[in-house]
Amino acid sequence: MTVNLHSDTQTRPSEGMREAMARAEVGDEQRKLDPTVNELQERVAELLGQEEALYLPSGTMCNAISYRLHLRPGGDEVILDRTAHPIVAEAGSPGGFSGAMTYQLDSRHGIFTGEDVRGALRPAGDRYAPRSRLVSVEQTTNIAGGHVWPLDTMQGVLNVAREHELRTHLDGARLMNAVVASGVRAADYAGGFDTAWLDFTKGLGAPVGACLAASSELIEEAWRWKQMIGGSLRQAGIIAAAGLFALDNNVERLAEDHANARALAEGLAALPGVSVDPAEVETNIVIFEVEDGPAWAHSAEEKGVELLALDATHVRAVTHMDVSREDIDRALELLA
Ligand SMILES: *Cc1c(COP(=O)(O)O)cnc(C)c1O
Repeated sequence: MTVNLHSDTQTRPSEGMREAMARAEVGDEQRKLDPTVNELQERVAELLGQEEALYLPSGTMCNAISYRLHLRPGGDEVILDRTAHPIVAEAGSPGGFSGAMTYQLDSRHGIFTGEDVRGALRPAGDRYAPRSRLVSVEQTTNIAGGHVWPLDTMQGVLNVAREHELRTHLDGARLMNAVVASGVRAADYAGGFDTAWLDFTKGLGAPVGACLAASSELIEEAWRWKQMIGGSLRQAGIIAAAGLFALDNNVERLAEDHANARALAEGLAALPGVSVDPAEVETNIVIFEVEDGPAWAHSAEEKGVELLALDATHVRAVTHMDVSREDIDRALELLA
């Protein structure tokens, strides 16, 4: 059996999750008549400190709809880190779906400051320049290494955004990893943003689904976009039940994934030709440097360890609930 460290999307629903899905009460989701979806939306709205929430098929759709809510085609610009998911993994969605420009910051660990936002602002009223409109933050930072935005850094960014009447968006694909790693409440991270969401298919272990939270007004508008792009569902309680099960059972255990990632980094650091600082591993993502990333990942796969080559010299490993400490030890033996 291979040890699958390709991503935390690789989990299979557990027996308990499958039972919860089989038992779920269902109805017509797009007429707001699915009790399980409704319950999940209420849970997430409260968890993220927002008025309402909207269940969506994927995190990518949460980003796409949120950006479309905030960005008007016609020269609007979103400020975000160059490693952010909408830049690297959404098929050009900010341009393709929202008709927007991107101002890509090059920040350490994917975490920028209020001053960085100030430096990226276009002069107001300048018809030659794009219009600064949105700031987008990723918690935790995925491709930048699973780092946790400190709350005060985030608040610094929100303050500058507010000062300049910019909209704000939180990509919380791994928000609960940040919550478990830092002890900060999800609502304290997410409550100050115009839109925020979390994913059930990353470390939380569900097979499908994500939930976007915002003001009632923005959620009402988000429903239009969900309808337009075919994201409205029917008896979706079957899958929403997996989200509820995940919130009840799979949050605290993320600490195990974080400990496993740290152990993996410590083992990797001892291997010849691998460069990684285990002290920099904060959550479930380990990014390490080798001479030839794609070749290294390919040869690891042949030995039975699935990884993801990010670029010429960087490889990513992600721990999750289907990888035990024994699996980490085995992966390290195979890689050695
Ligand atoms: C996975 C991910 C997404 C997209 O979520 P999907 O549910 O896979 O569409 C968005 N942002 C980040 C940071 C992610 O890691």
